[in-house]
Amino acid sequence: MKHKIIGIKNYSDSVFELRMERNGLDFEPGQYLLVSKPGLDEKREYSIYSSADAGFLELLIKDVDGGDVSGALHRSQIGEELDVEGPLGTFTIPQEKRDAKFVLIATGTGIAPFHSFVTSYPGLDYKILHGVRETAQLYGKKSFDPNRHVECLTGSINGHFNGRVTDYIRENEIDLNSYFYLCGSSDMIYESFEILQSKGVSRDHLFTEIYF
Ligand SMILES: Cc1cc2nc3c(=O)[nH]c(=O)nc-3n(C[C@H](O)[C@H](O)[C@H](O)COP(=O)(O)OP(=O)(O)OC[C@H]3O[C@@H](n4cnc5c(N)ncnc54)[C@H](O)[C@@H]3O)c2cc1C
Repeated sequence: MKHKIIGIKNYSDSVFELRMERNGLDFEPGQYLLVSKPGLDEKREYSIYSSADAGFLELLIKDVDGGDVSGALHRSQIGEELDVEGPLGTFTIPQEKRDAKFVLIATGTGIAPFHSFVTSYPGLDYKILHGVRETAQLYGKKSFDPNRHVECLTGSINGHFNGRVTDYIRENEIDLNSYFYLCGSSDMIYESFEILQSKGVSRDHLFTEIYF
């Protein structure tokens, strides 16, 4: 289906938010879309960043070095139409678990599905760990409750924690009753998975979405 771009917000030289017409597309927070544009042979997965209640769809995209699709999307203009398939994926919070406690762990643009969770489910009991280099990369910060948001910065001492998200979970107490959702790079996810399991988190409390 075609979705027209209605907004573009640049966070940095490489990370940007694309807002598209919703066109009635229904999704569950945590799901992703397959996105391409006319003339481009390839399509890629992008988690939906916006709330399930919003009248538009937003994606948070990093233009990766030499990246075919992310680069083409970065060069898009307002008014252009994108080819969108979906929603797809099961990285969601089932209705019966929405009263539970959640620890949401992301690196970089892996914050996208969590931004959708938090803005779609106002009463969600969460703690969110976001691993980036510097404060400017704390995408979506304004949407998170400051008491639930742990800024893990590797290149600055201005955050709550100076180090990687993996260092944070290694050094801090873990609530074994929480559900742990991990999203971002495979390196972070595999390492976090191991640390959490070694601390006693059961496999059925761990959910992952690997970007690359
Ligand atoms: C379920 C799912 C959801 C995703 N959601 C998002 C999202 O919300 N936002 C987002 O930015 N990306 C997301 N991705 C990654 C996205 O689908 C693409 O892989 C990414 O945009 C690169 O595509 P490309 O065509 O530009 O680069 P390609 O031409 O496919 O790859 C170029 C090189 O970049 C590397 N690479 C790919 N992604 C990254 C990255 N993020 N950082 C550094 N290097 C990378 C590849 O390994 C490759 O070596 C998601 C992936 C999956 C599987």
